[in-house]
Amino acid sequence: MADVTGISGKYTLPANGFTAPAGKQFKAWSVGGVEKVVGDKITVTANTTVTAVWEAVEYNVTVTGGTASVGAGTPITKATMGTTVTLTAGAAPSGKVFDKWEVVSGGITLADANSATTTFTMPASAVSVKATYKNAPHTHTYNQETVKPEALKTPADCTSNAVYFKSCSCGAISTTDTFVAMNTALGHAYGSDWKYDSTNHWHECSRCHDKKDEAAHDYGSDNVCDTCGYYKTVPHTHNLTLVAAKAATCTEGGKEAYYKCEGCGKFYEDVLGTKEITDLASWGNIAKIAHTTKQTVTKATPTANGKIVNYCSVCKKTLSTTVIPKASSIKLKATSLTYNGKVRTPKVIVNDRTGKTLVKNTDYTVSYAKGRKYVGKYAVKITFKGKYSGTKTLYFTIKPKATSISSLKAGSKKFTVKWKKQATQTTGYQVQVATNKKFKKNKKTVTIKKQKTTKTTVKKLKAKKKYYVRVCTYKTVKINGKSIRIYSGWSKTKTVTTKK
Ligand SMILES: [Zn+2]
Ligand SMILES: [Zn+2]
Ligand SMILES: [Zn+2]
Ligand SMILES: [Zn+2]
Ligand SMILES: [Zn+2]
Repeated sequence: MADVTGISGKYTLPANGFTAPAGKQFKAWSVGGVEKVVGDKITVTANTTVTAVWEAVEYNVTVTGGTASVGAGTPITKATMGTTVTLTAGAAPSGKVFDKWEVVSGGITLADANSATTTFTMPASAVSVKATYKNAPHTHTYNQETVKPEALKTPADCTSNAVYFKSCSCGAISTTDTFVAMNTALGHAYGSDWKYDSTNHWHECSRCHDKKDEAAHDYGSDNVCDTCGYYKTVPHTHNLTLVAAKAATCTEGGKEAYYKCEGCGKFYEDVLGTKEITDLASWGNIAKIAHTTKQTVTKATPTANGKIVNYCSVCKKTLSTTVIPKASSIKLKATSLTYNGKVRTPKVIVNDRTGKTLVKNTDYTVSYAKGRKYVGKYAVKITFKGKYSGTKTLYFTIKPKATSISSLKAGSKKFTVKWKKQATQTTGYQVQVATNKKFKKNKKTVTIKKQKTTKTTVKKLKAKKKYYVRVCTYKTVKINGKSIRIYSGWSKTKTVTTKK
């Protein structure tokens, strides 16, 4: 509320315009320590402070089925905010007991909603709570003989009935009171086959092994029981014969010597028949012996694989086979060389089918033709050895040195070409001309058969035409009685244009 000014003399106290604090309401105005009500008149002679006096609000407390109080005091129906209110449930109806408190309104939290006497703190609003009840528990009476799986104490067996715990009419099961479920014993499960020992035979229950129809064997005139087939053991003197030892081979195991009784068919380790062999199949076995390994080698050739076969010389069994890949790639590192005044020996490279490189002098040897210095064609013979067999002959050529064009002079439909003389390993020269770079169009070849001639004029050409020119050397050699020319590489190509 705003201050009021300019008052002198009588002033009528107004209605409260302040907002009350939580849980409080306006009670009166206080002027100089004296409480005044709204509408009272005061006399103002100086600056005067009027203070609002607040009082706590009492809110309704409604309890259904019980009472509210403060502490152990008398019942209350109202309480102010912050008061600790005690709830006490009333007497339960017949056959019921207190269950819990339910908060109907007021949003309070009870100290213990499940206790018949509890407390809560009063909020700034009315509160309503209600006591609820449930059926009083009963004392079980286990007098019901109800057969149900959860009540089983002891299952039935061949001769005894099942035993169950008794139940209460509410369904609860006793842990001590029992009853016998009549006619639930299973009865014996005797098999139709006979069980026996050395004296008797009988039928036996598969469940409890109870014996029925037990009686002594009835042999009649032989040693076999007519009822169960039991064979009576009759003492006799063994008639032992030696079964000779059998030596092991590489294909079959052997066997130690043993004795067999012709009378009872039993086997013995000793001639006196004191150590019986009950399991002859696993007794006295001698392991197979190792194979006698031998080897055959089929050598590989340049055209066929070879193989290494390991076999047993006794039983002939093949123990392993290893392929030797054929030596299918046989090459010279260089097949065309140029004369340089030295003896030439190009290297041989041999690979097998798998790309593995064979080793010289282990897998093969190489012999080169004589000479191999001058222009000519030379043989290289590869002879296989070791795991390989066969031969192969390769050839390489030593060509003469090339030459170069020293001048080209054009004339009318002709030109003259000069080249450098090649002094060694040369018989003559060859000049080639054409109208294109690749020497395909209008090609002419002129052979000069003298080593000393170093120029020639090429005639009968087209006028005003550009010609490409190149020169090589050659040497005539005898190979197998035949004369053949071996040419050098070409010189650098030069061009000339003929005149009109
Ligand atoms: Zn009960
Ligand atoms: Zn039984
Ligand atoms: Zn029998
Ligand atoms: Zn015997
Ligand atoms: Zn063998």
